[in-house]
Amino acid sequence: MAKRRRIYEGKTKDLFEGPEPGTIVQHFRDDATAFNNKKQGTITGKGVLNNRISEYLMLRLHDIGVPTHFIRRLNMREQLIREVEVIPIKIVIRNAVAGSMAERFGIDEGTPLPRSIVEYYWKNDEHNAPMVSEEHITAFGWAAPQDIDDMLALSLRINDYLSGLFFGARIKLVDFKIEFGRNYDENGDMRVIVADEISPDTCRLWDSETGEKLDKDRFRRDLGGVAEAYQEVARRLGVLPTSGPGDVAETTTVQ
Ligand code: UDP
Repeated sequence: MAKRRRIYEGKTKDLFEGPEPGTIVQHFRDDATAFNNKKQGTITGKGVLNNRISEYLMLRLHDIGVPTHFIRRLNMREQLIREVEVIPIKIVIRNAVAGSMAERFGIDEGTPLPRSIVEYYWKNDEHNAPMVSEEHITAFGWAAPQDIDDMLALSLRINDYLSGLFFGARIKLVDFKIEFGRNYDENGDMRVIVADEISPDTCRLWDSETGEKLDKDRFRRDLGGVAEAYQEVARRLGVLPTSGPGDVAETTTVQ
C-alpha cells in the first residue's frame, strides 16, 4: 500500500490524507499533554478508547440532527472524517465550577452553576489559548456573527443532550470543550459542524454518586488510574472494545 501523506501532527492526534477528496483520516495516539504542553506523557490504550468514545458520542449527536465531521470508524485508532475549514475557537461549556474557572474566581470545584456558562478561547498555543469575547472573534475575523450564533446554539444543545446521556451512565458532565469547522452541505450551503473529538480528554466527567474523576484531570493532577478511568467511561457507554487489533466490527457510517 502506498504510504499515506500526513497532513498534520497534533498533540494527541495525527491527520492523514483521506481516500477521497474532502475526507481525512484522524488517528488517535496514546500521547497526553496538559497545561499547554508543559506536562507530557503516555496513557496506554487511550487512543483506542477515545476513538471509540468519540465515535459513539458523534453518532449520538448525528441522531439528534447535530452535524459533525464524523463519517465512520476505520479501525482501532482511526476514523474517517470530513475535511473542514477550522474555526480557531475552542468553546467551553460549564455546568459546575472546575479547573481554570475554580482558579480564576476562587470558587470551590463542584459548585453548581445556576445556568450553563459558555466561554470562548482562541485556539493558539503560542499565546496560551487566551479567553476571548465575541468582540475579539468578529474583530479579528476568526468567525462571523452568524457562525458564532450557530456555534452557541449547537453548543447549548449538545450540552443538554450529552448531560442527559452521561447522566444515564451515572456520570456528571461538569464541563467540556468543543470545536467547530465550516464545510458545505449536500446543497452546497456553508454550515458549521462539530469537529475534533469528544472524549475524557476534552470533558470533565465525574461519577455522579461518588464524584470520582473519570477524565484527564487524573493525568493533569497525577491521581493515577488514568487508563482505568477512560475504560470505565467506555464501559458505561457500552463501547469498551472487546476484540483485538485490526478490529473493524460494528462500524456505522454517517451519510
Ligand atoms: N479543555 C480541552 N482543551 C483545552 C482546554 C480545555 O479539552 O485546550 C477542556 C477541559 O478538559 C475541561 C474544559 O475544557 O473539560 C474546561 O477546561 P478549563 O478551562 O478548566 O481548563 P483546564 O484547567 O482543564 O486546562
